[in-house]
Amino acid sequence: MNQGRKVWKRWLGVAAVIVVGAGAYGLHARLGSHRGELSPTQQKEVVSGTGDSSVHWSNNSSSLSSTAKPQFYVVPRVLGLRKFPYPYEAMLALSSDADHETLRKFNLVHQFINTEQLTPSGYYGVGLPFADSFFMYNGSNTDKLIDAGGVRKPHELSWFKGTSQVPYAAAILNHYIHVGWIDTLHSWGDFTGKDPYKTKFRRQLAEQGVRALEADGDYLTVWTDHGNQSNVDDMGSYGTKPFFWYQQGANPWSKYYHANITIPYGVRFVWSDKPDSSVGLPSMIYPLKLPNGDKVWGFWRYTSVGVSKRGYTEWDWTVGDLGMQINRAHLLWLERHHDYSIVAQHLEALNDKYPLPPNAINALQLLAEQYRQKKILVATTSQLLNYNVTQQYVHYTTTYQNGKAYIHIENIHDSVDGTYKPKLSDVRGLTFYTTNPAETVIEIGNTPVPSRFIVDNPSDGVAKSISIRWFHWSTKNYAISSKTID
Ligand SMILES: [Zn+2]
Repeated sequence: MNQGRKVWKRWLGVAAVIVVGAGAYGLHARLGSHRGELSPTQQKEVVSGTGDSSVHWSNNSSSLSSTAKPQFYVVPRVLGLRKFPYPYEAMLALSSDADHETLRKFNLVHQFINTEQLTPSGYYGVGLPFADSFFMYNGSNTDKLIDAGGVRKPHELSWFKGTSQVPYAAAILNHYIHVGWIDTLHSWGDFTGKDPYKTKFRRQLAEQGVRALEADGDYLTVWTDHGNQSNVDDMGSYGTKPFFWYQQGANPWSKYYHANITIPYGVRFVWSDKPDSSVGLPSMIYPLKLPNGDKVWGFWRYTSVGVSKRGYTEWDWTVGDLGMQINRAHLLWLERHHDYSIVAQHLEALNDKYPLPPNAINALQLLAEQYRQKKILVATTSQLLNYNVTQQYVHYTTTYQNGKAYIHIENIHDSVDGTYKPKLSDVRGLTFYTTNPAETVIEIGNTPVPSRFIVDNPSDGVAKSISIRWFHWSTKNYAISSKTID
C-alpha cells in the first residue's frame, strides 16, 4: 500500500513550476504616481488542498500607463507549501505501547531515547523527541513476569491501583505527560484476562479516568488499542471482522460504551489494531467512523513485515525487532519518498536488566544520525499526527502589498473536524516556498505570527522558504523514581 511515488511527483511539481516560472516572476512594474498594483481580487491567490502547490503568475502589465516610467524591483512570490518543515525530507514518530511498562524500564528507555546523558547501560542518550503511552488502570489477572527481578503484572505502571479509585503512579504519569514523555492512552487500561470472556472494565472507569486527567490538565489526543477479548474498551475495529466483536467501547448499546465520554474529552486520533507493513506513507491519517457515528482520525502504524502464507500478521513491533523496522535502507527510503512513518513498538517489552537490546540501540543511533543531519524530523506521535492534518488540509491565501507577500492561513478544512481556525500550535513547522523570505509575512487570518516563531530558510535546492518554527525538544533528564513503585 505504498503510494510514495505519488508524493514524489507532487514534490517535484513544486520544482517544475519554479523552473517554468523562473523567467516570469520577480519583476513587477511599479509606477511613480500610478501604483501599478493589482486590485485586491486580482492579487489574491487562493490555495486549497495545499498538498499540491498551485502557483499562479499574475500579470499586471496592462496597468502600465503610457506616460510613467516603469521601475523594476523584486517582489516576493509565494510558491507553495513545502511538505515537511525545512530542511527535513521525511517525518517519523516512535509509538510505543505500554504493555509491561514498569517505572524502572520506562526510565531507562526514556533516558536513552530522550536525553543526551550517559545512561546506566553505558551508552549516551540519543536525544530524540519521543512520547510514550500509558494505562490508567491495571485490570489484568495474568500475573505475568513483566520486569527483571521477578516483578509481575500487578506492578505494571498505571495511574490508579488496579481498577480502584486509589492513585498508584498518578503523580509520576502526570509529570511525564507534562514534560512531554507521554502523549498516548493505550486504551483505558490493561484488562487482559486469563479468561478472555471476563473483564474488569466498566464505563465508570472511563468517567473516573477523564475526571482525573482533566483535573491535572492532561489532554491526550492519541489512543492506541489492542489485546485479547477482555479489553472490551477497545473501539476502532468493532464490526470489521468477527475477532473484533469484543471491541465495545464505541458501541452505544453496550454497557462498556465510553466513546461519548472519551472522544469529547479530546481523543482525536485512534489506532484501532490494524496492522500495516508500510515503512512510510504519504499520509498517516484516514477518517474513521466509530460505531456510534463519531468521526475521528484513524491512523496507520508500521507494525509488521507482512502476512504469512497462512494469513497471520507477521508482527515486528517488539523491541528485539526494532532493527528490522529502523535500518539504513528504510530511513533512506523514507527520505527519498518524502513520507511519514509511525513506527509501532513495545519498547518496554523485555524483562532484561537493560530493556533496550543492542539491535535497538543501533537502530535508535541510526535514526538519531538522520535527525541530527536534519534529514528525518523525529517527532512525538501527537505532533506528527497534528502536523499531518494541518499539512494536508490547510487553506491559505496570498496577497501582495507594498513589495511584500502576505500568507494568510485561513483555516483547516477536513472531513473529520470540519472547518476551524488553527491555533499557533496547529501550524508549527509549516514551511512556504517563497522567492524572498525576508519580504514574506505569515499570518493566521490577518494576524501576523509573532516574529520569534518565524524562520527564514535558504534554498533547499527547490527554492528559499519561510517557516513557522517547529517545536523545541528538551533533552533534559526528566526521569523520577519512587520508593513505592517499581
Ligand atoms: Zn501493543
